[in-house]
Amino acid sequence: MQNILIIEDEETVSKVLKAYLERAGYKVYCTTKGLEGIELFNKIDFKLVILDLMLPDIDGEEVCRTLRGFSDVYIFMLTAKVSLSDRIEGLNIGADEYLPKPFSPRELTARVNALFRRLVSENDSILSFDGGKLKIDKEKRIVKVNEEVVNLTPNEFDILYALIAGKGNVLTREQLINKVFGIDFDGLDRTIDVHIKNIRKKIEEDSRNPKYILTVTKLGYKFGGE
Ligand code: CA
Repeated sequence: MQNILIIEDEETVSKVLKAYLERAGYKVYCTTKGLEGIELFNKIDFKLVILDLMLPDIDGEEVCRTLRGFSDVYIFMLTAKVSLSDRIEGLNIGADEYLPKPFSPRELTARVNALFRRLVSENDSILSFDGGKLKIDKEKRIVKVNEEVVNLTPNEFDILYALIAGKGNVLTREQLINKVFGIDFDGLDRTIDVHIKNIRKKIEEDSRNPKYILTVTKLGYKFGGE
């Protein structure tokens, strides 16, 4: 179950919201003060904070800035202020969405559902091989080996990803060039070999005896990760 934190001093508002969100399947914690909210946030793993701008102790902007100092949690900001400049300010301090009050709890619940659907599909974009030793996030274009980020150049990333997308089928050098550089590329086939050599150095445990990028003699390369 996903945890949501509501920081809102109007208890009638947070009660209604809590009821809606719980019905939608979330675990909801409520607090009426900013500092209490930050304290609670440090104890429990929240995926989303719904934050009121006007709070009795420290205001929502400060709570937002504080949370942003150490967390990239999703923050929905609630506020009665409706001017455009306030909206922009709300976004500038790091809120992900801005909801002017009064809001419909049903609409807010729909937005929360949309957010969590998006979070799930972001997780889907991470491919994992070899028991998690090699991970590729195709959306963010990040490669990790043993949880450490490996810096591939854009071309290296595209070559690796093309091989992975090939699902173990052999790709010729020409096919790789077409996929990565486009069909107008008029460099040498050897360009690919140089890139492959560099990728292996970065991701293989033993680049002379690779297990992820395999050479298929006279044909090309294929991905060998499980
Ligand atoms: Ca308030």
